[in-house]
Amino acid sequence: MTRRERTVDVLVVGAGPAGLGAAAELAASGVRRVEVLEREQSAGGIPRHCHHAGFGSSRPNGGTSGPEYARRSTAAAARAGATLRTGITVTGWAGPRTLDATGPGGLERITAHAVVLATGARERPRSARLVPGTRPAGVYTTGELQQAVHIHHQHIGTRAVIVGDEPVGIAAADTLRAAGVEVVARVTDRPAALPAALGRHHGAPLLTRTTVTALAGSPRLTGVAVRHGDGRTTTLPCDTVVFTGDWIPDHELARRGDVPLDPGTRGPAHDAAYRTHAPGVFAAGNLLHAVERAGTAAAEGRALAAPVRRHLATGAWPAGRAALTVAAPLEWIAPNLTGPDGDRPTGNRFILRTGRPLTAPLLVVRQDGLELYRRRLLRPARPGRPLHLPADWLDRADPHGGTVRVSVG
Ligand SMILES: Cc1cc2nc3c(=O)[nH]c(=O)nc-3n(C[C@H](O)[C@H](O)[C@H](O)COP(=O)(O)OP(=O)(O)OC[C@H]3O[C@@H](n4cnc5c(N)ncnc54)[C@H](O)[C@@H]3O)c2cc1C
Repeated sequence: MTRRERTVDVLVVGAGPAGLGAAAELAASGVRRVEVLEREQSAGGIPRHCHHAGFGSSRPNGGTSGPEYARRSTAAAARAGATLRTGITVTGWAGPRTLDATGPGGLERITAHAVVLATGARERPRSARLVPGTRPAGVYTTGELQQAVHIHHQHIGTRAVIVGDEPVGIAAADTLRAAGVEVVARVTDRPAALPAALGRHHGAPLLTRTTVTALAGSPRLTGVAVRHGDGRTTTLPCDTVVFTGDWIPDHELARRGDVPLDPGTRGPAHDAAYRTHAPGVFAAGNLLHAVERAGTAAAEGRALAAPVRRHLATGAWPAGRAALTVAAPLEWIAPNLTGPDGDRPTGNRFILRTGRPLTAPLLVVRQDGLELYRRRLLRPARPGRPLHLPADWLDRADPHGGTVRVSVG
């Protein structure tokens, strides 16, 4: 089969909020050939199938619906002059900035002066959570459930168990209710993570410190076996189970390109200019931190336009940047490399996650024995929720020094 070969200025992989934000800003700022490749049939990313409000606003039910947000982001990128191509999957790398793609028109090989990876994140499915038992129908992640209900208009079931206590579980509960399914229980192996007021929105009991031990039923799910914190076991009768949260960056393409990953986030290691370790390869959105709101992903996409333009003009790429790491109970930090150019992360703050609830945590940043920052946060921190560290200390870090360590004092 013949393969078409072309060159563009910037190739963006993924037309979600991050990729579209990057494409819109790059094209609007005068970069000529900005091309976005999206494997789905339409652009917009995850918001396309999130029919609730809450997009483009920090308030839980403010802003627009997901599909409307997706339409606006897509239109903005196209209006700015970016080329959006859907139904095309980027499958691998033929060189440091040369990507192979497959679509209805056949195989393509596209070389870019800069590549932006914006492939997002996904919820870990049942198979990856290693849940034993039968392989019945009626098992979803939130994303699969939303696509089944809102895009394919499929019949779901009658009684559901939701696994996980992250905010995305609220979207799962809403989608189930919209599909006429009763939520009979929510299960988490952790202590409660959501504030009680938000959790009540689910309208179903939350079983904390409870582990899913098996799925039962064939060909259809008949129950979810669980083990409670005190060792008791029981089976929750249901015909539907939704595995929510437990996000993993969609990092396969980055890995195939040998773009080094951060051990905490498992997305590409990157600095405040969204530069990875691979020269000319930038990254943005939930690929870097699974997961944040759509507005954060879009803002990162827009923010990388200036560093991309700088790279297009000079070809420069920093070498040997100091890494940022966290100590338990913190799980990860993004960005996770220092940079030599004085760039600041979006919103002038780092995003972190904690593995357990913290009341007014004291955050301490050290490098080579020197304390760069120490401040107590006024808000509590919860697992699965963003925790922010101001970036004011970044200018005092030595990009060529030792690892910068963030801990809870
Ligand atoms: C159920 C649910 C509810 C949510 N509710 C809200 C909310 O109320 N408010 C809010 O602000 N945020 C919400 N979010 C979060 C929001 O959707 C994400 O923050 C946002 O979509 C992240 O954008 P992104 O561009 O990083 O990734 P994505 O939106 O995941 O986009 C990545 C895109 O890359 C494409 N892609 C991946 N690999 C390839 C490849 N190899 N080739 C071509 N294309 C590829 C994918 O198909 C996808 O379209 C919700 C998320 C979920 C799952």
